[in-house]
Amino acid sequence: MTQDGTRNRPADHAGELGEAERAELEQISVVAHGPEASAAQRAAVAGWDQLRASEYAPRPTFRVPANPISRAKFPVIDVHKHLGYSLRRGWPGEVAELVEGMDRLNIQAVVNLDGLSGVHLRRVLDRYAGHADRFLTFAGPSWHRGAEPDFGEREARALEEAVRAGARGYKLFKALGLWLRDPAGELYMPDDPRLDPIWQTAGELGVPVLIHVADPEAFFRPADRHNDRLPGLGRRPEWYFGTDEFPAFEDLMQRQVALFKRHPRTTFFGAHVLNKPDDLAWVGQVVEQCPNVYPEIAARINDLGRQPRTARAFFQKYQDRVLFGTDGSDLRLHPTYFRVLETEDDLILPEHGTLPAGTHPLYGLGLPDGVLRKVYGENAARLLRVG
Ligand SMILES: [Zn+2]
Repeated sequence: MTQDGTRNRPADHAGELGEAERAELEQISVVAHGPEASAAQRAAVAGWDQLRASEYAPRPTFRVPANPISRAKFPVIDVHKHLGYSLRRGWPGEVAELVEGMDRLNIQAVVNLDGLSGVHLRRVLDRYAGHADRFLTFAGPSWHRGAEPDFGEREARALEEAVRAGARGYKLFKALGLWLRDPAGELYMPDDPRLDPIWQTAGELGVPVLIHVADPEAFFRPADRHNDRLPGLGRRPEWYFGTDEFPAFEDLMQRQVALFKRHPRTTFFGAHVLNKPDDLAWVGQVVEQCPNVYPEIAARINDLGRQPRTARAFFQKYQDRVLFGTDGSDLRLHPTYFRVLETEDDLILPEHGTLPAGTHPLYGLGLPDGVLRKVYGENAARLLRVG
């Protein structure tokens, strides 16, 4: 800049080139930038914009340091597993095999959320009775009786019985606010006062409630080309809640917080990072406002690994509150979770190296040992009274 603030300009040499100058520049340019695409080149990439989005599966060519983790650095308590009897697949493997797998991965204990109630709970408790310190079973409501009067009262009594029988907590699937209906056919919302006896009883018994409210925000957004989870929703349309049969996402989030605040003496495990893994500042606020709430990370490692710096700061700040979880019944997911949490690896890809439509590479958070120890196991051990 000159003193009077105007930009220094080179002398103006602009103007049309002469014939000869133009011809020479063209010859130079062809070599400098290469000739125009040949017919063969054009043909090779033709149709890229006709490719179906669902078929696009790039395979990144990066070669970056990779530090796969086959065993967690510190003992793990996985607070979100499904190890009950499923009508589709029966029991998930032999108990002895599960124990062996857990030992190999350094998983001290898992919370089995599939205890349900009554005879089903009895069966689950019996199945894992030989390893009661490794498999902590959470009971759940008799969902099919939701439309009967006094559902909340009866569930509170059932919870007392379940805990007496050996249940270590209570699990709420996302039915509240999405499809569980009362005797009048209206949806039960997560903060429905008729369910208060359940939360109060859990608080009195000192057992945690793992609650899953709503689902990721994208499941409630228009299912158009801007939807971040469209490929997944296309495969599982029953997970799409953007139709007018369902409440708005924000309404469910607010009711989730209202529930936490109304029952400060009840410990809540917030499933799937409260279903706001894409807004960790919001989750942090809830954690600060509600000392009884512990977000768990099951099935959201992909969201956390897309924002490694933001996620690391979140784990650091709330290291006494975040719990480890994975979801599902098998133990194959754990190495990816361990790698994202422990390493600083860039571009963590699925094993086969391809990224199917709608998936993204993950980036390691590189959590410090002190944070890892707490998140992996110490926080959950304290809350679940595991030795
Ligand atoms: Zn689950």
